[in-house]
Amino acid sequence: MKYISTRGQAPALNFEDVLLTGLAADGGLYIPETLPTFSAEEIAAMAELDYPQLAQKIIAPFVGDCIPEADLQEILQDTYADFRHDAVAPMVQIDSNQWVLELFHGPTLAFKDFALQLLGRLLDYVLERKHQKVVIMGATSGDTGSAAIEGCKRCNNIDIFILHPHGRVSDVQRKQMTTVAGDNIHNLAVQGNFDDCQAMVKASFNDRSFLPEDRSLVAVNSINWARIMAQIVYYFYSAVALGAPARKVAFSVPTGNFGDIFAGYLAHKMGLPVERLIIATNRNDVLHRVMTSGSYGRQPLEHSLSPSMDITVSSNFERLLFDLYQRDGAAIAGLMSDFDNGDVHFNDEAMAAARELFSSQRVSDEETCAQMAATWDSCEYMLDPHSAIGVKAAADADVPAGVPVITLATAHPAKFPGAVAEAGLDDEPFLPHHLRDLFDRPERCEVLPNELGAVQAFVAENLNA
Ligand SMILES: *Cc1c(COP(=O)(O)O)cnc(C)c1O
Repeated sequence: MKYISTRGQAPALNFEDVLLTGLAADGGLYIPETLPTFSAEEIAAMAELDYPQLAQKIIAPFVGDCIPEADLQEILQDTYADFRHDAVAPMVQIDSNQWVLELFHGPTLAFKDFALQLLGRLLDYVLERKHQKVVIMGATSGDTGSAAIEGCKRCNNIDIFILHPHGRVSDVQRKQMTTVAGDNIHNLAVQGNFDDCQAMVKASFNDRSFLPEDRSLVAVNSINWARIMAQIVYYFYSAVALGAPARKVAFSVPTGNFGDIFAGYLAHKMGLPVERLIIATNRNDVLHRVMTSGSYGRQPLEHSLSPSMDITVSSNFERLLFDLYQRDGAAIAGLMSDFDNGDVHFNDEAMAAARELFSSQRVSDEETCAQMAATWDSCEYMLDPHSAIGVKAAADADVPAGVPVITLATAHPAKFPGAVAEAGLDDEPFLPHHLRDLFDRPERCEVLPNELGAVQAFVAENLNA
């Protein structure tokens, strides 16, 4: 399997190299040159597989001959053994035609565990074989940091440095990062805001001279192809459980960077009969504006009750655009450079192609709370604010009668007790057992000034892997 850049100018890579790369050299994102496809019979047979077995079926073609099949199987078994529910991704019915796919049974209670638990293990496997060590640097305002730290905590060949804005992440989110023990785990609380943290990570990728020559820098944000790949699995898993391929299903996906829903698009292209993919956004609605007007433009960031979807640009949308523009890398490079200078307008054919499969809904904080309350009233099921946006969007989308709609529940409500209180639910969300003593665990965190030099010096002096 070869991977090519959405902007057409970077060299094609194999799986191992794409794993260790962030952005392509031409500024684009890597995607598979061709997709594996599954026939209706093959999809029907997936009903007999458990989650790790299905993951093997879906993921093996993308890995190609980079990892022997038996080793991949072992990695996948190990990855999903850490999830608290035996089904790994169980579903709950909340209305006659509405289902919730619970993607929060991993160690950090958000769907990002599906990809980052796997990514850490894949990286370590590949690095061990190459006798190489790497540094991961990332900035987080919440879920990604803890999921990346949990994913890398047993990796002998990775030092991970996660920057968060000092005093500006929630207590649960900070604790989930700073209480993970391990010499290779480094939490940096920067005396600045999230943008400052992100700018420092970006600057470090652009000039890596602060690191020893033998250490490369790896990205774990959702531009990393392996994260998208891991997320394809649960689209097949849930659809087959509801009767696919004989029955079509629709998905509603709480969306920020477009990584999760792009995996659903790939599942569809690989043969899964998907009626509709509903892009559910909060008031940071860049994608809803694209879908309704064809115009892609930045607007200032607004803080909402669903912080993991507070974005101004959806980086993975470029991967879809590449297909919408018939895989014309030069056209994508042109559009993206126009976007750097202001709004861009996508052509009518591209938008028509997008609207054949995708629709979008924007959900306000008030509607989010109202949905959390309504679902609680009707079936005593507690949604987190991100998942509530998905459920609301699913209810408002005009999906044909008889097509079940699966909303991806991307986080556990106990991560967002403030929103649960604001929604007025007469019960409190409890942390699952393995996290009950979270607030009693010792924290490890370095507070650093908002200066690139100080952060890079700390990284260079604290390489333990
Ligand atoms: C990251 C995240 C999202 C958004 O996912 P994208 O892949 O960025 O679209 C939604 N909900 C939660 C809880 C998240 O952590």
